[in-house]
Amino acid sequence: MNTQHVEKTPLLRELWLQILLAMLLGSVLAFTFGESAVGAVGWMGTLFVRLLKMTIVPLVATSIVSGVASVGSGGALGRLGLKTLAYYMTTSLLAILVGLVLVNALRPGVGALEGIAAAGGTAPQVETPDSLAEILFRMVPTNPVAALAEMDMLGIIVFCIAFGASLAAMPEGVRRPVSELIEALFAVMMRLTGAVIRLAPLGVVGLITSAVAASGASTFTSMGIYMLTVAAGLTLHTFVTLPVLLLVLGRLSPRRHFTNMSDAVLTAVSTSSSAATLPLTMQCVEKKVGVSNRVSSFVLPLGATVNMDGTALYECVGVLFIAQVLGIPLGVTAQITVVVTALLASIGAAGIPSAGLVMIFIVLEAVNLRGPEVAAIVGTMLAVDRPLDMLRTGVNIFSDSCGAAIIARSEGEEEVGR
Ligand code: ASP
Repeated sequence: MNTQHVEKTPLLRELWLQILLAMLLGSVLAFTFGESAVGAVGWMGTLFVRLLKMTIVPLVATSIVSGVASVGSGGALGRLGLKTLAYYMTTSLLAILVGLVLVNALRPGVGALEGIAAAGGTAPQVETPDSLAEILFRMVPTNPVAALAEMDMLGIIVFCIAFGASLAAMPEGVRRPVSELIEALFAVMMRLTGAVIRLAPLGVVGLITSAVAASGASTFTSMGIYMLTVAAGLTLHTFVTLPVLLLVLGRLSPRRHFTNMSDAVLTAVSTSSSAATLPLTMQCVEKKVGVSNRVSSFVLPLGATVNMDGTALYECVGVLFIAQVLGIPLGVTAQITVVVTALLASIGAAGIPSAGLVMIFIVLEAVNLRGPEVAAIVGTMLAVDRPLDMLRTGVNIFSDSCGAAIIARSEGEEEVGR
């Protein structure tokens, strides 16, 4: 038998390269064939997202319980939790501040009213988001089985952390068999997830074709400076703030971290969903960055749900943009209110497409911006939201992965960043 080792070409080896080519192919298909291309390949995107979603609940549940049980119940878990929350709050606040500075400096809303009127924005048909108190209540599911069945991520996370911590506190005779079973189930889920992930390039062709075909060019021109402001903020956060944190706090090479995370970031951009990308984020962070399951299984599911730097930045820029369009000056106190509520809105936003845009109503409400004109501007923002959503989801995922790597380092893990 011929056992000669065949060296695979980069295209066959590297998933990120395949995803990048798939994005290119999707764009070409959409530009060339428009809607008929969507009819031909759009289903592949839908199917891929369904497959990813199929893995999320069992993956997250087994991962958190086994992760938390291995951390232990008392001080160690509290320490990991505090570090994670501190990192998430800090990076989201830094992102918001970048947005705040840029939107005040570039003033994209000043004089944009005509363009928006020409684009014919109408009030979007979206459900009004929960109030801030409701976000807090939603964290505690009254029925954990219903939370699992309805994919209520915040509820699942809280229950699984509590279950894992209780498991860790049980005597050996109970703890061992239950932990071993859950760890085995987690290993099976990772295997299954790996198989789904290999289909990413096919799914991405479908997703990008649909996304590009759905975007109308004329609205983009009138909203150009606004979009550039958001994009500039996201770029600064990704290529300056987070790399500095990686270097200073984690002593990790940002370049290597970017390479290690490229599969997940490109999938986040293609799906516009942190939740759907979570299986890939976990694979990359554990297999490529080298973070232990103990840390990643706690930090990442939490991050995909509550840590959204890109969304936080977007909320802040979006609200100040609307105020500028309407010629309503927001003073220092109002801008501080925007910063705080943007942080809370990003925590409450679900990891699904356009969730950030819906949450903007909470921030608008906090500074008394409401009424038909406001709704019409949000309607126009909705028309151009997809590309911005793609970018902020990429940033959301990247920040989660930086958090996992930095926290793993602080917990004494040596293999991180290899
Ligand atoms: N799509 C984003 C995410 O899943 C949320 C948002 O709309 O900002 O992370």
